[in-house]
Amino acid sequence: MGETLNGLHQLQTFEIKLAAIRRTQLAKQRRVEVCRSRYEKIEQELEGQRRQNLERKARLDALGLDVAAREETVNKHRQALAKARTNKEYAAILSAMNTEKADNTKIENTMLEMMEEIQAQKDALAEVEAEKAKRFEEVSSAEEQLQAFDAESKPKRSELESARDEGALRIAPSTLLTFNRAAMRHEGEAMVPIQKVHPKRDGFVCSGCNMSIALEVVNVLQTRDEIQFCGACGRILFLEARG
Ligand SMILES: [Zn+2]
Repeated sequence: MGETLNGLHQLQTFEIKLAAIRRTQLAKQRRVEVCRSRYEKIEQELEGQRRQNLERKARLDALGLDVAAREETVNKHRQALAKARTNKEYAAILSAMNTEKADNTKIENTMLEMMEEIQAQKDALAEVEAEKAKRFEEVSSAEEQLQAFDAESKPKRSELESARDEGALRIAPSTLLTFNRAAMRHEGEAMVPIQKVHPKRDGFVCSGCNMSIALEVVNVLQTRDEIQFCGACGRILFLEARG
């Protein structure tokens, strides 16, 4: 390899390490996002359940008032019963009173069912509260891990960045631009060696994507310090020194 390709190859070692750091960082950032969205989901669920609970309690209160009003009516019927003048009148009041009593029993049964539902929901709510606390822990832990990674990788990162920037000074700007583009597309792996398919025959492939490479490209690389791309994946090609 000539000076340019050699310089680029060195840059690549820094780029690959930097890309690995970025990948880890990105994975940790995603983990934080996933945890946060899970936490938000459970918060919404909790809010919905609380609202439902309040609605049930309000309905229960309304039914309680209804029962009280009906009991009042039953009392009035009872007083009227004592003053009834005829059998017919007595029978009519008694029938009305019994209907009212029967209705009240129905409502009271409904109220009992509702109280059971409210109790069951209270238990369910406690479970969701516990899950919310757990999810909160997950968010904190994911955030801590991200922060710890950032702090821990910062010196290494700056070191790699300075080494790369220093190396980049020795490369022509247009070449560097080409290299950076390829590095960005392939997570730092801007360059790959050409591989010989068969030891005794001429036939070459890009070791990055396995597509075949024309013999003339190989010839250029053997004689000149020039950038040659793989036509398929766009990586910069080089020839490995023969051992
Ligand atoms: Zn390729």
